[in-house]
Amino acid sequence: MTTVKKILVMISLTLVVVMAYFYGHDDGLSGRKAGQGLFLSSAHAASGKAASPTKALSERDVYYPGSEDLAADEMRVIACGTGMPNARPKQAAACWLVELGNGDKFLFDIGSGSSERISALKIPYDYLDKVFIGHLHSDHFGDLGDLWIGGVIGNRINPLRVWGPSGHKPEFGTKYALEHMVKMFTWDSGSRLGNVDIRGQKLEVTEFDYKAVNQEIYNENGVSIRTIPAIHALDGAVSFILEWNGLKFAYSSDTFPNKWWMEYTKGSDIAIHECFITPDDLIKKQKWTPGAALNVGTQVHTSPAQFGKVMSEIKPRLAVAYHFFNDWDTAPNVEKMIRTTYDGRLALGIDYMVFNVTKDDIRVRMAVIDEDIWPQPAIQPKLPPDASKRIGFSEYIVSGRVPYADVVEKIYRDINKKYGTNIPTPK
Ligand SMILES: [Zn+2]
Ligand SMILES: [Zn+2]
Repeated sequence: MTTVKKILVMISLTLVVVMAYFYGHDDGLSGRKAGQGLFLSSAHAASGKAASPTKALSERDVYYPGSEDLAADEMRVIACGTGMPNARPKQAAACWLVELGNGDKFLFDIGSGSSERISALKIPYDYLDKVFIGHLHSDHFGDLGDLWIGGVIGNRINPLRVWGPSGHKPEFGTKYALEHMVKMFTWDSGSRLGNVDIRGQKLEVTEFDYKAVNQEIYNENGVSIRTIPAIHALDGAVSFILEWNGLKFAYSSDTFPNKWWMEYTKGSDIAIHECFITPDDLIKKQKWTPGAALNVGTQVHTSPAQFGKVMSEIKPRLAVAYHFFNDWDTAPNVEKMIRTTYDGRLALGIDYMVFNVTKDDIRVRMAVIDEDIWPQPAIQPKLPPDASKRIGFSEYIVSGRVPYADVVEKIYRDINKKYGTNIPTPK
């Protein structure tokens, strides 16, 4: 503990003792008797009732990750990234988690910065093994490597399964991108061999035709996921529709308004569609030229007024706008423009927004995050590292080791004693 911390703790303790003393004695104003106050009187203590005048609330206005079971017919959607290509502390780039009452969980996009949000949800990584990528912009799959490798270190035993679109040429497709991601992490993967259980390093990639219209690409356990083409930047972008138990979730990833979305997402329970920041704010806040702001803000992406048109057409129970920096000075402009073309129920997405969807209700809350989060324990037995798989060091690097054998031998002895193991100290 630092000196400053020690002093602060001592001051706090002194204050508590002094306050308890005065509070516990007759203050002459409220008629409180000695012994009443911060501490239970003997009568209260005997009846087991707390002296606090407040009561625990039965309703929660917030979501504490890991503390609520889903009902059998319930869908929970959590925003793990709602921002723009530059991840920032307040908003990661695109990522949405869908959890279903049957126990299944799906990630839609995994943009830059989103793996941090995912980790905050206290879900064992074995349940985060299915990712659907809408297109190969870094703000939609930039954190895949992080989930892939971080998941292994975080106790995932299952392979990671990824679905993503083809491109107009093979090198523009998901398979090519992920083969090269694996190559990019050659040193990383090699370094784990023989040191941890690496079964979760397996990557299973399903590439599907980006031109497929309403084609089912996943059907397990009563969950159907379909793809429709999206129009965004280049050929090879798609949107997704998930249907389960009479509930329909639609996710645009990125797209210009298009006929496939209009036709196949009609009547969604929750429809999440990109909604870029207004061109005027792109010019003012991001210092873009008017030409670039108009092109990116209304042609490459969907502007707020276009978003409103899209939602008026498909009439979801809840429309969710995302893909803009949602701040005090931008959100009013986005909402004002959406309201020129749409008057249905609307949420302006922000990271950690939580949607509980049933046939009768859609509840929107914010999650409360514990920043001291650790990965959850493995849900399958882990294998001890197989030292024979280690690549090892060259003689040159080994020659530089300073072993501190006395210290390290003691660490091994202590751990072996504490956990009843018999692991020899490496020579
Ligand atoms: Zn994009
Ligand atoms: Zn994007």
